[in-house]
Amino acid sequence: APMVMTQRIAVLGATGSIGDSTLAILAAQPLNYQVYALSGYYRLDKLFALCQQFLPKRVSVPTAAVDDFAERLSAAGLDIDVVGGAAGLVDIATDSQTDTVVAAIVGAAGLPSTLAAARAGKRILLANKEALVMAGQVMINAVKKNNATLLPLDSEHNAIFQCLPLAIQRDNTQIHQPNHGVRKLWLTASGGPFLQQSFAQMQQASVAEAVKHPNWSMGQKISVDSATMMNKGLELIEACHLFDLPEDKINVIIHPQSIIHSMVEYSDGSFLAQLGSPDMKTPIAHALSYPDRIESGSQPLDLFALSALEFIQPDLQKFACLRLARQAMQAGTQATIVLNAANEIAVAAFLNGQIRLTDIADINEQALNDIQVPPLNDTADIEDILTIDKIARHLTDKLVAKLA
Ligand code: NAD
Ligand code: MG
Repeated sequence: APMVMTQRIAVLGATGSIGDSTLAILAAQPLNYQVYALSGYYRLDKLFALCQQFLPKRVSVPTAAVDDFAERLSAAGLDIDVVGGAAGLVDIATDSQTDTVVAAIVGAAGLPSTLAAARAGKRILLANKEALVMAGQVMINAVKKNNATLLPLDSEHNAIFQCLPLAIQRDNTQIHQPNHGVRKLWLTASGGPFLQQSFAQMQQASVAEAVKHPNWSMGQKISVDSATMMNKGLELIEACHLFDLPEDKINVIIHPQSIIHSMVEYSDGSFLAQLGSPDMKTPIAHALSYPDRIESGSQPLDLFALSALEFIQPDLQKFACLRLARQAMQAGTQATIVLNAANEIAVAAFLNGQIRLTDIADINEQALNDIQVPPLNDTADIEDILTIDKIARHLTDKLVAKLA
């Protein structure tokens, strides 16, 4: 009989949307997976309830919350080690008992722990696309050098991964071997809540309208990114790093039903696609059990209930962020760091009611064109990247203040 190994999992960003989907799968698979560690930042009551449910050995919270949280756990009779802040996340990600890190923190805040997991040779289930946008080369190098495994959770990238041959799944540089015949990648996009609306309507959008995604239920930041299509821009950059391709080998196509999650085009004319219900539990279950398969708990796709699958060319005037992402990818890592930082600041300003939804693209464009940052060389490391990120955030704050 095959030996069953329990995978010990650290879910970083356990209180978020990806955290929810991951823990729903793990709750249904108690034999093969152990929830070894959790982290949360904002909703600590929810994190406390997760600690009661999953009994992890370790938990990470914001530094200022460590003492209170530890007291609360011990008052409830729970023996869980509590660590704090960015160092706590790195500690959990690199813990010798952690086999798998689910990188589900949103934004640049997820980079240090995701990179630390790569350096510690972990199996990484990556949702935190911003880590690759900021530090793609450093991340991929760290994965290879330390024999880590990087499995994409982002549904598009997970779909592409599934449509690639094993040789490329194991070594992304194999994608250049002519015998594999990979011609292009096709990233599908839903088009978000404003696909059928004019730019003028988009300009007037409230926060509630912007975060109401037609097909997926997600955290606030990625929901706004989907409304501006910055999400697809970030995913384009993510795909370049994951699959070792230049941006012009990756097409973006709007497919409003979100049934085809992305495609690989081959030299013989074959297009391989992965289809499924729009539910993150499917790519998460795929990555958790890879190369095997497990139940995810997602609704099976009902093909008879679909009247049509549509495909539309994206409008780069209305969704300028997508154009900016290509521009940044061509310009290099400094530019993708600046774009990511500017976008995080602009999205937060929109969510705070300081700027309009359509101002996000304007701010991102100004940041990309105007912000001067120190050059990055081949030996650049995370400190250099975080320095550029910090400068870009500071200057973008000023751009927001001018507008607000
Ligand atoms: P979310 O806002 O629902 O959850 C974010 C998590 O990160 C929470 O646990 C939060 O406490 C934690 N967090 C936030 N700021 C932090 C900080 N400064 N330090 C430490 N922890 C912090 O977001 P989400 O929708 O779950 O998305 C998480 C990541 O996954 C993002 O990078 C997103 O782009 C990506 N992703 C999400 C989906 C989705 O369906 N939700 C799909 C694909 C990719
Ligand atoms: Mg996606």
